[in-house]
Amino acid sequence: MYECLLCACCCTSCPSYWWNPEAYLGPAALLHAHRWIQDSRDQYAKVHLNAVNDEFKPYRCHTIMNCAHACPKGLNPAKQIESIKKLLLQ
Ligand code: SF4
Ligand code: SF4
Repeated sequence: MYECLLCACCCTSCPSYWWNPEAYLGPAALLHAHRWIQDSRDQYAKVHLNAVNDEFKPYRCHTIMNCAHACPKGLNPAKQIESIKKLLLQ
């Protein structure tokens, strides 16, 4: 996750982000959120999870996977978003 360039290729390829840029955080921001949630050196995982916990911010991802195909670094934002959703359920 630390290899993300913040190039936004994933966001520009994401149909959910096209239609809801005000409400849905999009793949790049959610990948970065997950990077901090999973960082064992960071003590604020619950705070970060609360920050992305509403019906739009992560849940507008429909696992279409365009983001993973578009990423020039071979990252998979969809997988990180899926992990955020599982953590929120827990
Ligand atoms: S998997 Fe989610 S973030 Fe990636 S392109 Fe599809 S809707 Fe967007
Ligand atoms: S396309 Fe890849 S490198 Fe670019 S912002 Fe998205 S996750 Fe980061």
